[in-house]
Amino acid sequence: MSILEKFSLKDKVAIVTGASTGLGQGMCIGLAEAGANIVGIDYVDSPETEKLVTELGRKFLSIKSNLITIHKEGLIDLVKQAVDHFGKVDILVNNAGIIRREDSLDFSEQNWDDVMNINVKTVFFFSQAVANQFIQQGSGGKIISIASMLSYQGGIRVPSYTASKSGVKGITMTMANEWAKYGINCNAIAPGYMATNNTAALRDDEKRAGEILERIPAGRWGKPSDVAGAAVFLASDNANYINGFTLAVDGGWLGR
Ligand code: NAP
Repeated sequence: MSILEKFSLKDKVAIVTGASTGLGQGMCIGLAEAGANIVGIDYVDSPETEKLVTELGRKFLSIKSNLITIHKEGLIDLVKQAVDHFGKVDILVNNAGIIRREDSLDFSEQNWDDVMNINVKTVFFFSQAVANQFIQQGSGGKIISIASMLSYQGGIRVPSYTASKSGVKGITMTMANEWAKYGINCNAIAPGYMATNNTAALRDDEKRAGEILERIPAGRWGKPSDVAGAAVFLASDNANYINGFTLAVDGGWLGR
């Protein structure tokens, strides 16, 4: 098989969380362009993503679920719904995530628990459910989780986000250590500063936005399509020997 053929995701089935907008939508489009059918999970409908994916000739199953409050059994049920519809799962992209900003001296338990639940607890138990499905299928598969620059740095006023994203980087290695032997590749992508809803407040703060932009070697904020290429690569056969790594897509931010 040629190197370009090994990038193809033709007839693969990819579950993407947080599919309605932002980086999740960008990765749905990238994976669909590479040939995958998509199960898009979000706590709202994803009509725009569905339209963009089906226009590419791929199928899109939309499932509504709140990934802050969901438990292990609910995540197993989401995998079952995907398999009932498409017959199998090949790729999981753990993208849905939230951020809460508050001074660390006053930080609330709610802001701690909500962020930790969706950003790291759900990431682990969804990965576990999908890994068990991969093993049952005897197929192996790809698990890609979305980390952050705050998997490497402390950040300011975002203690639960930093804890959760450092956790994503850590469990990506743990899962890879245990599941590589089943042909399951667990990796993460650490986006830099991307222009999505997640960073709207930051971009509205002229001073902070200016400081951030000045520090990005590429000289611009990232776009969802910047992350989509990395997701297609990590989901493809070209990444079969990459295990437990967190790949920065950051315009050079970490190198400064
Ligand atoms: P976004 O535009 O806010 O998208 C987040 C997605 O998660 C949305 O589709 C959102 O749905 C969904 N979501 C939020 N709460 C949910 C819940 N309770 N249940 C199910 N889905 C929920 O942000 P983004 O920038 O694309 O972020 C995607 C991922 O990248 C996150 O994990 C984020 O931490 C990470 N990240 C982003 C940046 C950045 O600069 N933007 C940098 C590093 C890492 P709604 O649209 O309905 O809220």
